[in-house]
Amino acid sequence: MRGSVDIAVVGGGVIGLSCAYELACRGWRVGVWDRGALGQEASWAGAGIIPPGQVDKAALPWERLRAIGAARFPSLAEELRELTGIDIGYRRCGGIEFLEAEEAAEVTALWSAEGIAFERWEAEECRRREAGVIPPEGMTAWYLPGMAQVRNPWLMRGLIAACERRQVELHPQEEVVGLAGSPPRAQGVLLADGSVQAVERILLAAGAWTDGVLKHLGSVGAGIHPVRGQIVLVRFAPPLSHRILIVGKRYIVPRGDGHYLVGSTEEPEAGFTKANTAGAVAELLDFATRLLPPLHQAELVKCWSGLRPGSRDGWPIIGPLPGWENVWMAAGHFRAGVQLSPGTARLIAEVWSGQTPCVPLEAVGWHRPFPSGPRAFRS
Ligand SMILES: Cc1cc2nc3c(=O)[nH]c(=O)nc-3n(C[C@H](O)[C@H](O)[C@H](O)COP(=O)(O)OP(=O)(O)OC[C@H]3O[C@@H](n4cnc5c(N)ncnc54)[C@H](O)[C@@H]3O)c2cc1C
Repeated sequence: MRGSVDIAVVGGGVIGLSCAYELACRGWRVGVWDRGALGQEASWAGAGIIPPGQVDKAALPWERLRAIGAARFPSLAEELRELTGIDIGYRRCGGIEFLEAEEAAEVTALWSAEGIAFERWEAEECRRREAGVIPPEGMTAWYLPGMAQVRNPWLMRGLIAACERRQVELHPQEEVVGLAGSPPRAQGVLLADGSVQAVERILLAAGAWTDGVLKHLGSVGAGIHPVRGQIVLVRFAPPLSHRILIVGKRYIVPRGDGHYLVGSTEEPEAGFTKANTAGAVAELLDFATRLLPPLHQAELVKCWSGLRPGSRDGWPIIGPLPGWENVWMAAGHFRAGVQLSPGTARLIAEVWSGQTPCVPLEAVGWHRPFPSGPRAFRS
């Protein structure tokens, strides 16, 4: 048995690395194991949209975690830059959500209740303030000045380097295939080479693969499954819109340097296959060029896809596995893993450090109720 750390984090995506960093900052000895390269799965592939939020007024527990993320990202960006020299590309660029009348009533009521700043822009004002944008027929434009973005690959590089600076042990290319010990206490994680890493606590943060890891433990699944999302990146000079443009589950994220990220599909039927399809790429480009017609002349840079960790209700499960005291999971962040990552990390670090958690654990854990009703943000 090897044993040099207190906590084993299984999965080095944005959730695992954020938790590892937060725990290490609070004095824990942490190791992160990933079956592949660190930070190269969903967390690398995502668009990096960070919606705004007000921590004290957010209604659902996950909305509170999102608001914690919105509040934390500016200081996290600064902290990572100071610690590692890496810029994670955090920018409060603002965003425009285009909504149909009925959903506008529901969604803006949630924004108002949470104290999120927004303005309604008539089509004329939208065209004047966002040159080149053609608002979709029958929809109204809602400007959110607090919407922000990060560059996912930069964020992953920053978190990996910050973990290294905080003496987190990083183990890429080492798959966890089981646990040593039996319920209620695990003694460590079992690695693919047959060795065991002895630890006091284990956090499963294996993204879309989490149910596969649970199977290794003989546990029932948590309903975590892959939901493929495809992205197209184009380049156009001179720069057009500076704000994130969102229509339902589709969006254009201007990177501020002439690159425009166009996303994204939701394809649970693709299973664990990462690929771009001609149909989806055509559909995304059609969406982008209708909303921002000058993009017809944009250069196609590249396409990619990632596997979001879907869950039964679109919200993650955070907390102990049934029957286990020291084995926890933080998975199923679906479309919102980046924005929820600071809140998820803070919640786990608070509970494990004996502090009052920022949201009640029973509201986000395995046996939590399924929330119904509209979400403040869908992308
Ligand atoms: C196209 C797209 C757009 C998105 N846009 C946004 C957005 O704008 N804003 C936002 O907040 N979120 C967005 N998301 C969602 C977000 O990216 C995910 O919710 C988030 O990345 C999930 O992070 P994770 O760490 O749980 O999973 P991952 O990043 O997938 O990491 C899981 C890790 O676990 C490892 N692993 C798996 N099995 C094992 C094992 N047995 N042993 C060891 N390691 C293992 C994997 O190799 C992987 O590295 C988007 C996602 C996609 C795909």
